[in-house]
Amino acid sequence: MTNVIHNFNAGPSILPAEVFEEASRAILNFNNTGLSILELGHRTKTFQAVMDEAIALVKELMRLDDNHEVMFLHGGASTQFFQIPLNILGENDLAAYTDTGVWASKAIKEAKLFGHVEVVCSSKNEGYTYLPKDFTIPKTAKYLHITTNNTIYGTQWQDLDFFYRSGVPIVADMSSDVLSRDIDFNKFDVIYAGAQKNAGAAGVTIAIVNKELLGKLDRQIPTMLDYRNHIQNGSMLNTPPVFAVYVAMLTLRWLKSMGGVKEIEKINNRKANLLYHTIDSLDVFRGTVMKEDRSKMNVCFVAINEQLEKEFINECQKEGMVGVKGHRSVGGFRISLYNALPYESVEAITDLMKDFAQRKS
Ligand SMILES: *Cc1c(COP(=O)(O)O)cnc(C)c1O
Repeated sequence: MTNVIHNFNAGPSILPAEVFEEASRAILNFNNTGLSILELGHRTKTFQAVMDEAIALVKELMRLDDNHEVMFLHGGASTQFFQIPLNILGENDLAAYTDTGVWASKAIKEAKLFGHVEVVCSSKNEGYTYLPKDFTIPKTAKYLHITTNNTIYGTQWQDLDFFYRSGVPIVADMSSDVLSRDIDFNKFDVIYAGAQKNAGAAGVTIAIVNKELLGKLDRQIPTMLDYRNHIQNGSMLNTPPVFAVYVAMLTLRWLKSMGGVKEIEKINNRKANLLYHTIDSLDVFRGTVMKEDRSKMNVCFVAINEQLEKEFINECQKEGMVGVKGHRSVGGFRISLYNALPYESVEAITDLMKDFAQRKS
């Protein structure tokens, strides 16, 4: 590798350089134990300290109250699609779901296995390029499920008050924007996020549950899927994904050292503003999402024709800018601006965009 790589991948995605350095040292010799983190027993004091710190950092960075339990689980965010209704949705209960993208619709499909589901809004007819507004949320719903940031389409709920006011417990898939903005996390009864987008390496999922919702059903829940067992055992019910938890812990430590969620949000805003401003000011590019719903994590746009699209992708490749291509289902470009992406990377790609536009006009 010679040149600087700018990594705009949507997930797994960029992590802080410090995290890579520390994690690679830990593979050779973890905390001067003479052992690799990969050969360390998960029941050792040394690893227990890692898990404890990871859980404590999530609580601290999100300012969670004592009702909210933090778990590090296996199975990805996709397992949460069914683990949540399995634990909290009775077969005669109703759950409200917002259909704002492929991930949301996968969550809907799984919930239907366990109870009644009402899809309260959908933007599918418009290719998920906006977020529906002013729909009704049934008061009788056991919970309302939202996807706070739709990774594939580049939409993100900016006004969460609408959901807070519903009075219905909120369950949120925050896989691609967790810890990226300063919101009141205690307003949510369940939060889940695959770590590989904004919080660490692939292999572990952060799940946060208001414990008051648990233990209310008479359903039999398999041991490994019952949240109460994971809480009681401090996310060590079985062998946890030791290395992934460690990398998540390092990433959380880094976030704390950056000043936490409030400070990272300021940087994230600057990055998103620069990129959207550049898209809007150049004739060759066009944003694909309704402006008020634009995501600050995944920025989706197209070039005005296919030829230019191909050319720009090629130029990105030459300049060491990776992960610029849109999701295979939507095409165009998608630039992910997760916490660890430096402002300089956004400057680099916007400079290239401006230069490209000048040459092509
Ligand atoms: C990536 C993603 C998922 C799927 O995550 P896995 O950990 O691969 O199961 C779910 N929801 C959203 C919003 C995502 O971005």
